[in-house]
Amino acid sequence: MKKRMLALLFAVSVLTATGQVGGGIAGPAPRARAEMARHSLVFFDTFDTVVTIIGYAEDKATFDRVAGEARAAFERYHQLYDAYHVYEGIQNICTLNRDAAQTPVPVDEELWDLLVFAMEWQPRLEGTVNIALGSVTGLWQASRKAADAGEPASLLPDTDALREAAAHTHVNDVVLDEERRTVFFRDPSLKLDVGAVAKGFATELVCRQMLASDMPSFMINAGGNVRAGHGPAAGRSLWGVGLQDPEAALSAGADQSMDVLYVEGLSVVTSGDYHRFFVEGGVRYHHIIDPATLLPAWQNHSVTILCEDGGLADILSTAVFILPYERGRALVDSLDGVEALWVRAGEAEGEARMTEGMRAYSKNAGAVNPER
Ligand code: ADP
Ligand code: MG
Repeated sequence: MKKRMLALLFAVSVLTATGQVGGGIAGPAPRARAEMARHSLVFFDTFDTVVTIIGYAEDKATFDRVAGEARAAFERYHQLYDAYHVYEGIQNICTLNRDAAQTPVPVDEELWDLLVFAMEWQPRLEGTVNIALGSVTGLWQASRKAADAGEPASLLPDTDALREAAAHTHVNDVVLDEERRTVFFRDPSLKLDVGAVAKGFATELVCRQMLASDMPSFMINAGGNVRAGHGPAAGRSLWGVGLQDPEAALSAGADQSMDVLYVEGLSVVTSGDYHRFFVEGGVRYHHIIDPATLLPAWQNHSVTILCEDGGLADILSTAVFILPYERGRALVDSLDGVEALWVRAGEAEGEARMTEGMRAYSKNAGAVNPER
């Protein structure tokens, strides 16, 4: 477990440049921007991952307060979006999956907003991401858990069981009543799985809270979901987001980066086949399932999406990961303000591709981190 945490910690490394502020004019200067200092907070207890918050603040107390509020928000969203645990007085994905087929369940605004967001985007994602896929992903998760626990029995989900589960994944059977803000499942075997979107959606909510605070110069990395606020050192340079090489991640160790994206005010989210998986019969079975085959998607090793909204970046990274390159490329090209980078698998094994617009951010394509 610890090993995986560390791997995730390094999955996306955040590199910052600290430039010097140029000279000023005489007189009692307002607090010089050079006094901004870098602080960081790391915690391990939300979204089954490592969350790192880096911020530039005038003093440590400001950082501690703003980062502390961000952490509290992550804890709240973790509870609301948790599919495995019940919390006193909270309706979450777990209680919906338990109760929503019996009776409409009223939910809090942030859970409602997540479901609405995902269900609005889903029809545009060519049948890839489906938050109603929980019966199917649950079978794969059970196999992965058994493998993690070292159980020797045949680990793959049974084909018939997968097919039977797939009959209960119609998102139209998730009934949202806007007036009452309730959720009801028309199909008693339907289960929600918001794993493809919840972390990015939560990160975006936290980001907006921090942008409105007195420490708007920050970077959040929630297990590969990166969201940058204003640039580091009060906006004199950009955040460098290191992208992990999928192959190096599996063999050499997790901290090798294949490229760096220089950003501010944007999200960078990667979906990959190298974080959560088990091996059976020499084959690696990872955690992103293609609804068309009910098997782990095999077209790419990783897809990185860059756009402003963290929820959109997260849902798109999973969707484009599942699609073959050409169809994923067409989807990305059809969306304003969205760029992508692929490491392909299968026939084009190991080939890297990026959209034209991505080049402006990519160190490999010549982008540099300016000092302004
Ligand atoms: P990560 O959680 O590693 O950041 P993703 O954002 O790509 O990766 O989400 C993968 C998670 O989404 C899986 O762990 C599973 O819970 C869920 N999932 C897998 N396949 C699908 C799918 N086709 N549609 C919706 N959710 C999926
Ligand atoms: Mg995702």
